[in-house]
Amino acid sequence: MTAPSRADFDRYMTPNYAPGSIIPVRGRGSRVWDQDGREYIDLAGGIAVTSLGHAHPRLVAALKEQADKLWHLSNVLTNEPALALARRLTELTFAQRVFFCNSGGEANEAALKLARRFAYDQAGSEKHEIVSTVGSFHGRTLFTVSTGGQEKYTQGFGPLPGGIRHVPYDDLTSAAEAICERTCAVIVEPIQGESGVRSPSPGYLAGLRNLCDRHQSLLIFDEVQTGAGRTGELYAYMRAGVVPDILTTAKGLGGGFPIGAMLTTEAIASSLVVGTHGSTFGGNPLACAVALAVLDELTAPGLLAGVSERATRLQQELETIGARHQLFAEVRGQGLLIGCELHKNFAGRARELMQALQAEGVLALIAGPDVLRLAPSLNIPLADLDQGLTTLDRVARDFVAG
Ligand code: PLP
Repeated sequence: MTAPSRADFDRYMTPNYAPGSIIPVRGRGSRVWDQDGREYIDLAGGIAVTSLGHAHPRLVAALKEQADKLWHLSNVLTNEPALALARRLTELTFAQRVFFCNSGGEANEAALKLARRFAYDQAGSEKHEIVSTVGSFHGRTLFTVSTGGQEKYTQGFGPLPGGIRHVPYDDLTSAAEAICERTCAVIVEPIQGESGVRSPSPGYLAGLRNLCDRHQSLLIFDEVQTGAGRTGELYAYMRAGVVPDILTTAKGLGGGFPIGAMLTTEAIASSLVVGTHGSTFGGNPLACAVALAVLDELTAPGLLAGVSERATRLQQELETIGARHQLFAEVRGQGLLIGCELHKNFAGRARELMQALQAEGVLALIAGPDVLRLAPSLNIPLADLDQGLTTLDRVARDFVAG
């Protein structure tokens, strides 16, 4: 059989993605190799997922060890890795209860359903409204895509679930107008990732907390992208000093193995009585064993401090490159979630820049048409970071020169 090729994507797969021209076949640390053996520096991290790089020996060992023991039971029986992971997550965060699933979208679906159900139990069906923010991204299920604040993702998929209001991000006045006694929950990303790596003003998240408290609404932090160490804290809420009622986490939690989790308090979780929600694969032993190893690594001395060190270096160097070539209007973000907004002369050309980088051996991401996004592994070797930046400098020069 001939090796699969990029043309097979167009031939056999649904056309809802536009993958790059290369097919990586192997990865180690922050480097990957394609079918032709060409090497790339990975500054994309599988969209903020491979938090510890590719083929991390500790994660590979955890997966192999579990693979030899037990793969799947479903939730008719519980399993040791799930129990150990749930316990660890509660030790490390505000939460007392954990629900496992397989992705960020599913974690948010669970969070939104729980918020509705909790409000229903406490106050009846009138209290069902969800307040979300314009530009947010919460997943691709119909409920999460409707809650997300980007119309392009709901177009043509109606009728959509109702009872959802959208307010501008980072605008407490609008939030105060929308949040009322009918609000069961407010869902927000501590940093909006997909729509451009946008951090809110200091005080915004605390302001939402106050509004939620005033109206007995739950505050949901979608930390699917900001969580699992991405910002230099285990979860971004810890830096913000604002504790949510429900937190969703996925992406980096599994370091590349699919897992999602919804974290909450004992009181709120009590609404998810037997039979109200579930997942066949959620909490499966393989995923939980890997995530447990990820948490061990993330909480090992020095790892998160290393994120801040790398972030400072990356941000400074990106600002220098941006200014040198007049390419970036702004470099923003927290930790190793960084967005470089293109200067207005290059509006709409972020994808082109990303492709030019790939052609020169650097994998990067975009966040909307105007923002180059970088989300490397949290332990990326400094030499790899420097090599990626040197290439970016050269690509930026040629890009600007036309
Ligand atoms: N929430 C946020 C903030 C995200 O960035 C994403 C994915 O990009 C999701 C939810 C959806 O996660 P998944 O693709 O794992 O369903």
